[in-house]
Amino acid sequence: METRADFSKTSQQLRTKNTTRIICPNCGNDSDFFEVADGVILTTRYIQNSDGSFVQDGDESQILGEMRLFCAECNEDLTGHHQRFVEMLF
Ligand SMILES: [Zn+2]
Repeated sequence: METRADFSKTSQQLRTKNTTRIICPNCGNDSDFFEVADGVILTTRYIQNSDGSFVQDGDESQILGEMRLFCAECNEDLTGHHQRFVEMLF
């Protein structure tokens, strides 16, 4: 437990140190963003039980289009930063 806590603390420090934060060039927001997926097919598989109820049995959704990134403050298109966003997604 102790080792694990130490490790996560260290990796967080490294991450902060080496990261260029995404900052909206329009309004300066660097904390709130949203991601938009184009052309999404939502496919969810269900199994019907003997009593007629359903349970979800997997999610086979596909994203066909582009993933785009926007500033949540001013809606500026930040898709140019999307690759970095994905890399920094934990
Ligand atoms: Zn903005």
